[in-house]
Amino acid sequence: MSKQRVGVIGGGQLAWMMGTATEKLGLELWIQTPQKDDPAVAIAHEVIFAPIDDANATEKLAQKCDIITFENEFIDLDALRNLEAKGVCFRPKLSALSPLLDKYEQRSYLHNIGIPVPKFTTLENISSFNSDFPLVVKARRHGYDGQGTFIVKTEAELTSLLQRLKDVPLMLEEYVPFEKELAIMVARSITGQVVTYPLVATYQKEQVCRWVIAPAHVPETLQIQANKIGKHLLTELDVVGIFGIEFFLTSEGELLVNEIAPRTHNSGHYTLDACDISQFEMQLRAVTKHQLGSTQLNCLGAVMINLLGYEDSYSDYAEKRNKIAQLPNTYLHWYGKKECRAGRKLGHVTVLIKDHTTDPEMIAKKIESIWYSH
Ligand code: ADP
Repeated sequence: MSKQRVGVIGGGQLAWMMGTATEKLGLELWIQTPQKDDPAVAIAHEVIFAPIDDANATEKLAQKCDIITFENEFIDLDALRNLEAKGVCFRPKLSALSPLLDKYEQRSYLHNIGIPVPKFTTLENISSFNSDFPLVVKARRHGYDGQGTFIVKTEAELTSLLQRLKDVPLMLEEYVPFEKELAIMVARSITGQVVTYPLVATYQKEQVCRWVIAPAHVPETLQIQANKIGKHLLTELDVVGIFGIEFFLTSEGELLVNEIAPRTHNSGHYTLDACDISQFEMQLRAVTKHQLGSTQLNCLGAVMINLLGYEDSYSDYAEKRNKIAQLPNTYLHWYGKKECRAGRKLGHVTVLIKDHTTDPEMIAKKIESIWYSH
């Protein structure tokens, strides 16, 4: 029997990390990505070299594949709708993505279905927005890794930012003085079964995720609440696939949704080493009609540390990688990107926690001290 073919729009590290699961499930992975040195080119059966938002390329991908799924949502939705109308099978289907691609529309959608979000408004309604500085200005589309998110403290800062970004569609929201940032991965099958991974704590510096601790050390009620929000959202959108949900935990103990990633997410990378079924396998299981299976940790917990670029270089950082990889219970994933730039995600490390005396934060700091040393 020939292998089921899955086409993936996007060939970055998220698609690259589908490699092992592709083999385990006996699938053939086809990728649409622009550059020959994009990470997933190394594990793809075939590659269509084209930008993510090139719908003609997606049409070619669809001619070869049974199902199209996503590792990147910076797509041309309107153009893809024509393909869906012609019978191309997108999972999740496009109507599950369409309310989420613009941050203002995403906030509005979540609010309308009763999911708590920070107070927000359009730029046009700024004068009636009842919130004090600091305020948060966000690019409505194409934001990632904090690019496109600006925390402004004064009227003067706001004016100069709006001037600088006058051609970019923006939205405005209240600054949430959160206690913690939390996140969860939620998957839904074709039959409507929903599974949720453990709620994790994420630590950001200058709006970029530095490390993730799984599970988050928070009351069980929050895990239950996060599961409920996840199930509500994915069921409401009739999602087939996996979504990441990022939360702010307020000082009153309330969960507010900051952002939905309609695909696998950095906050779920720990699942590769700490769970029997990773988030990448879960996405492929969901879209290919497999049973979803377990989301349990197979250890006490884990800490995942991003290896972010801190300079412009073409180095492969072999020495530092070796040093980190030799630490106990440590798994290093290197994405093989040729070009390093400040802030670019070059790899990540997961350390499994196997006894109660281990402090995950100390481990994260130790790995960062090796990685960021000069
Ligand atoms: P991106 O889509 O680029 O990841 P996010 O909207 O998730 O951008 O913001 C990145 C980070 O910026 C968040 O994880 C959080 O630390 C901070 N942030 C974003 N929005 C707010 C807010 N309304 N209040 C406080 N901090 C925020």
